[in-house]
Order: sequence, then C-alpha cells, then structure tokens
Amino acid sequence: MKKEFYCAVDIGGTKILLFLIDNNGQVVFREKIATPKPEHPEIIVEKVVLLLKKALITLNLNETELRSGVGICIAGFVDHRCGVVHQSPNLHWHNPVPLRDLMTEALACPVLLENDANAAVLGEVYYGAAIGHRDVIYVTISTGIGGGLFLDGRLYRGSTGFAGEIGHIKPFGKDRTCQCGGCDCLEAWTSGSAIARSAASLWESAEINGQKITTSWVFEQARAGNTRAAAIIEHAIENTGKGLANLVTLLNPSCIVIGGGVVAGQSDYLKQIGEWIRIEAIRPSVEITPLIIVPAKLEPEAGIWGIYAIMTEQVVE
Ligand SMILES: [Zn+2]
Repeated sequence: MKKEFYCAVDIGGTKILLFLIDNNGQVVFREKIATPKPEHPEIIVEKVVLLLKKALITLNLNETELRSGVGICIAGFVDHRCGVVHQSPNLHWHNPVPLRDLMTEALACPVLLENDANAAVLGEVYYGAAIGHRDVIYVTISTGIGGGLFLDGRLYRGSTGFAGEIGHIKPFGKDRTCQCGGCDCLEAWTSGSAIARSAASLWESAEINGQKITTSWVFEQARAGNTRAAAIIEHAIENTGKGLANLVTLLNPSCIVIGGGVVAGQSDYLKQIGEWIRIEAIRPSVEITPLIIVPAKLEPEAGIWGIYAIMTEQVVE
C-alpha cells in the first residue's frame, strides 16, 4: 500500500503540537512548541508554517504529498464551516480571526479547522477511552474548561459550531467574571485557574510566602489537612459534578470522558465528580443506562487523533 501522510496540528493556550501521521496510524513526526506570547494570529500562523517546513524537510516530503492538506484544532469558539475563530479566551483573541484563510494562504494547501474539544471527543471515541460508545460527553478541566459532544454516533457541533461549551454553562456561583466575557460560568469557579483564584481571594493575597498561589498548591494544602483549601476543592468538585449531571439529564450519554491537568493522576477527584453526577442526574440516566465515567486516555494528543479521524474520513458527517 502506498504511504500517505496526514498533518494534524493542535493550537492551545500554552502549547502548539504538530504531528505527521501515516495512513497506518504511525506517527512519523511530532513536535511541541510553546505558544508564542503575545498570541497574535500572524505569529501563530508563522510558527505553524515553520513547524510544517521542519516536518517536511525531516521526512524529505513536499506539501503535495500531504493527503487532505493540514487539519488544525484550536482552543476557541470555531465556526468550522467558514473557518473563523470567533473568540478564543485562551489565546486572548477577542475578535473574529479568519484562521482557515490565513493558514491556507500561508501553508499553500487546503486547511480544515475544528474546535479542540470537538476534535478531542472524536479522538477519544475513535482511538481512546470511549471506543464503541455512540453518546459521549468529553470534558477537559485545566486552565479553562472545554467540552465536546458526540451524540447518536456523530460529533454534535450545533447550528454554527459552538455546541459543547461546557465550561460556560451557568449552574451556580455569584459575581465572578469569566474569560469569555460572561459572568459566573462553570469555568470561572471550577477550572484550574479558578481554584487558584478562589484561594487567592480567601487568603486575600495572590502569594503565600513569596510564592504565587497555584492550583497544585491548593491541592497540596488540602491533602495536608488545610480545611479552607479542602473546601475550595470540594466546591469545585461538587459544582463540576452538578454541571455534568445537568448534561447527563439532558443528553443521556453512555460515557463521560474527563481529562485535563486538574484531573490528571487524581483518581479521587474523578471519583468524587462521578458521585455528584450520580446523585444529581435523573436516576434512570445513571441506573438504567450503564453510564461509565472514565479518565481521558490520549492526553495531550486527543485533538490530534480527532483531526486524524476526520482527515482519514472515519467520521460520519
Ligand atoms: Zn465563560
């Protein structure tokens, strides 16, 4: 069989990944760089062009040998039909960016654009923790909170591509601004940065002993028996669980995949979120439905594999 190559890129708030994968699913090139600061679209486009050049030179290929051009997923509210990123809180893009057109011109090949969590749910469904499931909720809890929905065997994008933004549902909370420009979103109270922010406001300082308060510091304090830190974590767990319970009641999934830095390696955190989901969702959706709640399997490459699944035409549109 003739070797074909697919290029998948994941642009996030902290890192950019570029993979070349062959038609057997073998990764033949991978590179990770830090997202440039400030995150101007032109600079990001330039970085991706350089990464692709490096990949092609390393493998002695040219652009025309890339099957289906380049697939990109990005943290932001993406209209995949016209390839516009309408807003990206993580990249501090507050105005629409016609990223697909910018990339197409700079890369001189066709470009496909998708939201990163939408790509990640596809990655987990086709290659990761949710193989075989037709109704999946994916949530990633890190600096922010992202979400993707796979319903009835298909990616559910909504009418214009903005569905699945679990981080910005509003089940609770009061008077806290969110990166999206709204107020009291789930993300503003229960993401990694929100946990640190809660601690900073409780301790009335962004620093403790000259060190910036971080999410992992709050976790360490909670483990060491600090009741205030433990209360912040419990609040985040309870509200993440309640937020997801609402989605379970609404969508009746058979699998919830939870990823992101806040949850990574913390099986107890995941277990407690699961307990809240089972308390708060309607009973049949957790008792009759064999609902499983599992950690993400492909991090930090879930988006890359979702893009690969789209480009290799495995995804039902
Ligand atoms: Zn928000």
